[in-house]
Amino acid sequence: MKKEVLIKIEHGIFTRGFSDEKCIQCGKCLAGCQYGNFTSKQAGEIVKKIRVMPQWYPELSFCIRCGKCDHRCPVGAHPSYLMRECLEHKRQAEIKTPSSMAYSINGLGVEGWGANFFKDAYKGLGTVDKRILRNWATPKKNKDILWIGCTDRMMPRAVEESHALRNIAKFGGPDDCCGVWAIQAGLFDEGYRIANRFVNRILENHFERLVVGCGHCQKVLTSIMPETLGVKVPFPVISIYDYFLDMIEKGSVRITKPVNMDAAISDPCFGYENGADYLNAVRRLATAIGMSISEMPHNRENALCCGYGGLHTDGKIANVVRAALIKRKDMAASGKKHIISYCPGCHLVNHYFQPGYKSHYLLENVLLALGDNVTKPFSTFYRRLAYPHMAWNLLSVSKSALL
Ligand code: SF4
Ligand code: SF4
Repeated sequence: MKKEVLIKIEHGIFTRGFSDEKCIQCGKCLAGCQYGNFTSKQAGEIVKKIRVMPQWYPELSFCIRCGKCDHRCPVGAHPSYLMRECLEHKRQAEIKTPSSMAYSINGLGVEGWGANFFKDAYKGLGTVDKRILRNWATPKKNKDILWIGCTDRMMPRAVEESHALRNIAKFGGPDDCCGVWAIQAGLFDEGYRIANRFVNRILENHFERLVVGCGHCQKVLTSIMPETLGVKVPFPVISIYDYFLDMIEKGSVRITKPVNMDAAISDPCFGYENGADYLNAVRRLATAIGMSISEMPHNRENALCCGYGGLHTDGKIANVVRAALIKRKDMAASGKKHIISYCPGCHLVNHYFQPGYKSHYLLENVLLALGDNVTKPFSTFYRRLAYPHMAWNLLSVSKSALL
């Protein structure tokens, strides 16, 4: 497999993927946004202002960069990329990146950034789990490689010891990250460097196909890199949900413990960006393992953010809560108390920020349905927050997160 993919960046007034020449200033991007409150006239005026002078404006602080405006834009100009580019101006004007936000972004340890939430969480794992993580950091030779993203690395044993996943080699070290949260936070240069290292690390493996657990990582590989960086990754990419569905349909694995549950499906920000087939595969898989699923009022191209995206404007938890409350209205309208989350980040937020609802992580449910054990599910994650190193670091960033 060819080594080293180099990032190419075109320079112009908008350098981060927004197609300014297509924009007709209709304002549909902002006027239809669930997180803003603009008339079409106001929305058009804001877009006009940004196009004349791209920079950060206070009236953009509502934006959590969920990407849904891209699907309202009638000309395919990618307004969410414009929102991210404006945020980049805010980042550049800051003396220091808010510490709560910096703490939440993985992949920058190699560049000397300080403490990191994910690495702290890995430190809190047991001896066996840590041994598995060390093994996952080493490149492999196999027909299929399963890329394990930052969050799925918090449940090593369930994935490593899965009988259903026995034929796939697992890969992903503690500093490996797709870069999505740096990019979403407007830290483009850092995010693109992380993404670049991500692809080059994957290319250290010998494989034919990459299977990806996290939809954000998949979106970076299949849409952010080609659309904003002009980089097409030189290997096929499929989701872990497609991988499971294929095995179930071919009969190479069997559902031995069907999950009898009536639940609403919680689409994440990236769902629609990964394509209709991706969204349909998730639904077919949930149904195949025995779940009875229903849609939330906002789904697919209109899906609401779980709230996590709110952290990456200024690092404030209040923005996460604000966005999570909007999602909560959707949960209430669904009439279901059980929620299926297939993004690991959404699962954590839906689990911890939505009292009264029970979030189920689809990956865990699939493993259980196929007869695997999930001895330490994400729902036990909170116990690691009490470990001294993590408690200390959370305390250190709490001022930045709360005030
Ligand atoms: S990215 Fe999301 S929050 Fe931001 S303007 Fe678009 S739809 Fe609204
Ligand atoms: S929806 Fe598209 S065309 Fe309309 S103002 Fe927004 S970016 Fe421009």
